[in-house]
Amino acid sequence: MRRFDYYQPQSLSEAFNLMERLKGDAVYVAGGTDVIVKMKQGAISPKALISLRGIEELRGMESDGGIKLGSMVLFRELERDPHVGAKYYAMKEAASLLANPQIRNVATIGGNLCNAAPSADSAPPLIVLDAAFLLEGPGGSREIPVEEFFTGPGSTCLEDVEILREIRIPAPENKSGNAFVKLGRLKQDIAVVNAAAMVMMEGGVCKRCRVAVGAVAPTPLRLREIEQMVEGGSIDEELLGAVESKVKELVSPITDVRSTQEYRREVSGILVKRALKEALTRAQM
Ligand SMILES: Cc1cc2nc3c(=O)[nH]c(=O)nc-3n(C[C@H](O)[C@H](O)[C@H](O)COP(=O)(O)OP(=O)(O)OC[C@H]3O[C@@H](n4cnc5c(N)ncnc54)[C@H](O)[C@@H]3O)c2cc1C
Repeated sequence: MRRFDYYQPQSLSEAFNLMERLKGDAVYVAGGTDVIVKMKQGAISPKALISLRGIEELRGMESDGGIKLGSMVLFRELERDPHVGAKYYAMKEAASLLANPQIRNVATIGGNLCNAAPSADSAPPLIVLDAAFLLEGPGGSREIPVEEFFTGPGSTCLEDVEILREIRIPAPENKSGNAFVKLGRLKQDIAVVNAAAMVMMEGGVCKRCRVAVGAVAPTPLRLREIEQMVEGGSIDEELLGAVESKVKELVSPITDVRSTQEYRREVSGILVKRALKEALTRAQM
């Protein structure tokens, strides 16, 4: 790995100034669990790293009816937070299944999102929980829905100097449940496929549904056609069987070191079905 300079700004404005000065030669680093691996593999070789660790504005969680997560929140914090565990099950499940405790103690939610792997475990939960992201740059801030953030494998709508500041998740509706499921080659490995679902039930009828699946398309994918199939009726085995078949038609996976495209296609239907079942059970509790 080639030598690099390391900067530790203490505020967003200091980070923006550094990035504007070093543009092209520097990358932001949060926990470093993606950045350092890429540097070691020679996939990137920046002259400078700008650490986000010292920036207070990016830390902490705040409940405001919903929840606001600073982008530097660690997966270990998410996994352990009682408020996240009580309402945002899908997020808690994704956090507890990501990598291992050592990685979760340094890996941040912001890093997972900005790295923009199609398999990123935090993406499907945030899609079904209807999250929005606060992005900030030298010119000010803008809020965007989660689905607009990912633009391709490894790419996002962040502009050069911009930083993901905060993830905003609204409070889940009454009578709703949400869930995350994942299949890896080993437990706590990067996902072969992952999926999340949210359902809101009234009198046995699904009033609202959201479904998302990861590692089966260039970006994490919201499955609107599945949502339309589920909304307006009861969720029974017959419907879940039809959902499983339809998901397989909607995804466009690739073959890579973790799996074949055929296996991913097969498993995506099963995982969406499982996530829906689990979300339904929770909505009925
Ligand atoms: C052994 C191992 C196992 C892993 N297992 C999993 C797994 O099971 N599931 C999974 O999803 N991932 C997994 N990962 C990948 C990685 O740990 C996660 O993606 C992690 O959340 C990245 O966070 P980080 O803070 O380390 O990001 P970093 O490596 O610091 O940064 C990642 C990218 O995001 C950018 N960035 C970071 N924060 C911001 C910000 N606030 N604003 C703008 N840009 C920013 C950086 O410039 C960089 O491009 C694994 C990695 C390893 C090494």
